[in-house]
Amino acid sequence: KSYGSGETKIVALRGIDLDVMHGELLMIAGPSGCGKTTLISVITTILSHDAGQCHVLGRDLQRMDERARAYFRRKSIGFVFQLFNLLPALTAAENVAVPLLIEGVPWESAKTRANELLRTIGLGARAASLPASLSGGQQQRVAIARAVVHDPALLICDEPTSNLDHQTGHAVMEMLRGLTIKSDRTVIVVTHDPRIFEFADRIARMDDGRITEVVEGKDRERLE
Ligand code: ADP
Ligand code: MG
Repeated sequence: KSYGSGETKIVALRGIDLDVMHGELLMIAGPSGCGKTTLISVITTILSHDAGQCHVLGRDLQRMDERARAYFRRKSIGFVFQLFNLLPALTAAENVAVPLLIEGVPWESAKTRANELLRTIGLGARAASLPASLSGGQQQRVAIARAVVHDPALLICDEPTSNLDHQTGHAVMEMLRGLTIKSDRTVIVVTHDPRIFEFADRIARMDDGRITEVVEGKDRERLE
């Protein structure tokens, strides 16, 4: 995958060869600019790749038109971002309910499910709070609940702990691991923070547009 053309062309991904399993939490780690966000943007159909093949959840992405891609993103993928990206005018529960509303779930049942989910992650008491009154760690937990409320088969988290202190990031990863891992769901976490490697089943190291190494989580010391 490259950006631009001619003299300003930047090759962001080159010869990526990676399989991600159902039911695993894979981390993609590497320095800033190595292509992590580009890779997950291709996997999630936000960007189209220029060459090679990418199959996600049994679909060949190159064979999907824009409409199919938009539906696929909405239905099958949950996103968690570095800056939480909660809607500031909506309460925590309303934020969590949004993906259900987009799917056409009626307001009352969407809100009930959102409240239940917030209770299971220990934020029931903050369900009616606006994001600005929550701590960073609480906001990210709400964002994770929002990302999985519609039960997507693939959860993508781009630097989910980068804006949190170490202890809070650890607690958020514990919650993410507990809430999101299911045998039929794949979780991909992009990070440049080795301190959260312990939550990974496998870690893929990226450098300069390539996957240079994939190790089992238990062997993570080899990367640190
Ligand atoms: P990472 O997420 O690992 O920091 P990115 O995937 O964002 O890396 O970027 C990979 C490379 O592609 C970098 O050299 C970056 O400058 C370049 N790049 C990313 N997005 C764009 C874009 N929209 N236009 C041009 N170059 C880009
Ligand atoms: Mg990035």
